[in-house]
Amino acid sequence: MKKILFYFIFVIILIFTMPIIFTNQFKTEEVSSQEEPVVYEKFDYGEYTTIKLLHTNTGEVEEVYLDEYLYGVVASEMPATFDLEALKAQSIVARTYTIYQIRNGKKHENADICDSSLCCQAWITKEDRFARWEDGKEEEYWNKITTAVDTTRGKVILYNGEPINALFHSNSGGATELSINVWGGNFPYFQTVQTSGEENYTSYSSEVTVSKDDLIKSMLEKYSEFKIDFASPNPIEILERTSSNRVNKIRIGNTEISGVEARSIFGLKSANFDFEIIDNNIKFSVLGYGHGVGFSQCGSDTLAKNGRNYEDIIKYYYKDVEISE
Ligand SMILES: [Zn+2]
Repeated sequence: MKKILFYFIFVIILIFTMPIIFTNQFKTEEVSSQEEPVVYEKFDYGEYTTIKLLHTNTGEVEEVYLDEYLYGVVASEMPATFDLEALKAQSIVARTYTIYQIRNGKKHENADICDSSLCCQAWITKEDRFARWEDGKEEEYWNKITTAVDTTRGKVILYNGEPINALFHSNSGGATELSINVWGGNFPYFQTVQTSGEENYTSYSSEVTVSKDDLIKSMLEKYSEFKIDFASPNPIEILERTSSNRVNKIRIGNTEISGVEARSIFGLKSANFDFEIIDNNIKFSVLGYGHGVGFSQCGSDTLAKNGRNYEDIIKYYYKDVEISE
């Protein structure tokens, strides 16, 4: 009898709890199906209406509209004479880089980003930009830049649903570089790609001549034990290159440094260099301009002039990425 009573109570409980269990299941499903687009909404343009911009010359932090900020970035970072598709690609790259800095950047304490190309990305006011453009072209150039930013509004480069660290540079010198060879960190969307046509831009090749005395002085500033005997068979020697032909390791006298460090010490435009010792000087011949990681501006202009659109260009430089709508 007790058993029957027990089953009876059990069934009663089931009758009352089943709908709750099912309702909860449906609720859970509802919530999860609603959650999916949240990933998308995280990068919705609306969420990033303004940013805190640090003016490096004054130290002032100004809150500016992201749209207007991007006009100043594209105007400063890429020549307005470049193809419109390259300017659109640059707009998306700059927008993505900015959002990545807001979300992950640790460069500045009180600001999201600064106006220096040496630190974050360059930015210029409309007034300053107009003053530097050739007379009569100002409105046409500005309209081209605002068109590039406005027609790609809200578009962000995503890898696995997250905005990428959209690094870019002026001219790859023929091949782009992996971030691991420049800063040590690696991201799966960077790759080494060749872009032909970059040799047609002035930033493609350059030379720097350093006297032997200045080289010794510069090296001693960083390495107090530095010594070099220019009479020895190989006083300077490139020991290793990366897959994109940049110098990975170079020995200068008794000191081994990275190509990236040599670039910084001698003020070279990139780490893709060769050298010659001529009389009292060391002549560095350099290919490309910038760190070489990610999107190449001159390369993107070449691709655009060959008929590629902004999406093709972005996917050419960043592997396995999507562009949000
Ligand atoms: Zn900065």
